[in-house]
Amino acid sequence: MSFILRALSKGIDGVLIGACHLGECNYITHGNYQAVNMVLLFKRIMEHMGLNPDRLRIQLMSGSESNVFVETINSFVKRIKEIGPLGKGEGETISSEELNTKIAEISKLVPYIKVMKNEKLCTHLESKDQYEEFFTKEEVEKLLNEVVSYYIDPAKCQACMTCARRCPVDAIISVKGQIHIIDQDKCIKCGTCIQVCPPRFNAITKLVNEAVPPPPPEDQRAVVRKTKEKEVA
Ligand code: SF4
Ligand code: SF4
Repeated sequence: MSFILRALSKGIDGVLIGACHLGECNYITHGNYQAVNMVLLFKRIMEHMGLNPDRLRIQLMSGSESNVFVETINSFVKRIKEIGPLGKGEGETISSEELNTKIAEISKLVPYIKVMKNEKLCTHLESKDQYEEFFTKEEVEKLLNEVVSYYIDPAKCQACMTCARRCPVDAIISVKGQIHIIDQDKCIKCGTCIQVCPPRFNAITKLVNEAVPPPPPEDQRAVVRKTKEKEVA
């Protein structure tokens, strides 16, 4: 998805992906199934962005099928020319600024989209009949319109550091004895931190379509231990 977005951000009018025939991947990962699913998902994302999904195509072919390669390139280029320039073509009315903003937004969400749709992306579809509605328009609208964020409640965090140790992308600002903070620009929204925060602290909240409250100023991040509070009381 990131490669497609990078091409679109550079004004490329269409993206063609070539992959081996299903069941003929040389690797145990069977990445071509995932590539097909990813293309199906990304076509829906393109619709959400206001782009014609025909700008993206995947063609399964083997190294010996030069005729398929030539036919594919010719028909794809013909179709892209029919559609017209990116953002102003068939079924599209989106300014360059709007498009760039949307590309930047979706680019930030790529890891989140992959986490949320991981199971479906790994599915091995066998029949072409399954393809068309594998990812529905409604499903993708929901995915992109109800984006989650994770927030550490300064009043509950006890700086046990568990979340910071388990975050896969080092998105949690972790200082010993200080309230932990999620760097929202780095966070890929995987949800690991909320799963590992000890239930006795329960300091992390999942927000849906809500602005994340700003973190406390740096000089007000010292943790007041719950036990000490009790002792003073
Ligand atoms: S949601 Fe995932 S990426 Fe974001 S802070 Fe928590 S563990 Fe890190
Ligand atoms: S796991 Fe919970 S209590 Fe521990 S540092 Fe993270 S947010 Fe704070």
